[in-house]
Amino acid sequence: MDTKDCIFCKIINNQTPSEIVYEDEKVIAFNDIYPKAPVHILVVPKKHIISLDHIELEDKDLVWNLISTAKKIAKDKNLSGYKLLINIGRKGGQIVDHLHIHLMGDPNR
Ligand code: AMP
Ligand code: ZN
Repeated sequence: MDTKDCIFCKIINNQTPSEIVYEDEKVIAFNDIYPKAPVHILVVPKKHIISLDHIELEDKDLVWNLISTAKKIAKDKNLSGYKLLINIGRKGGQIVDHLHIHLMGDPNR
């Protein structure tokens, strides 16, 4: 698939609206459009990587960036506990073929 048809690349390139909660040079995070928890944020590398199955050694810093960003956002959202989920491949429940971490939690729990 061409990256121009990728919904998350469109969000990254400001071609589709989203509720951005964090952004830096390498990572963006925005609210999931169909939240499955009171806080449901997608943490996404700006580099188009199809899935965790497609990361290379050169992406190791990016993986750290994604996880530490998720941690930072969880703290900002007052989540004392939370879940991180990565779906990989259709049979793993992945619908959008651009690597992302689901950050889910409830600040009132
Ligand atoms: P996955 O099944 O892991 O590929 O998850 C993809 C997620 O992206 C789902 O939870 C969708 O609700 C979410 N999603 C799809 N399109 C958008 C969008 N335009 N803005 C925000 N979230 C989206
Ligand atoms: Zn993409």
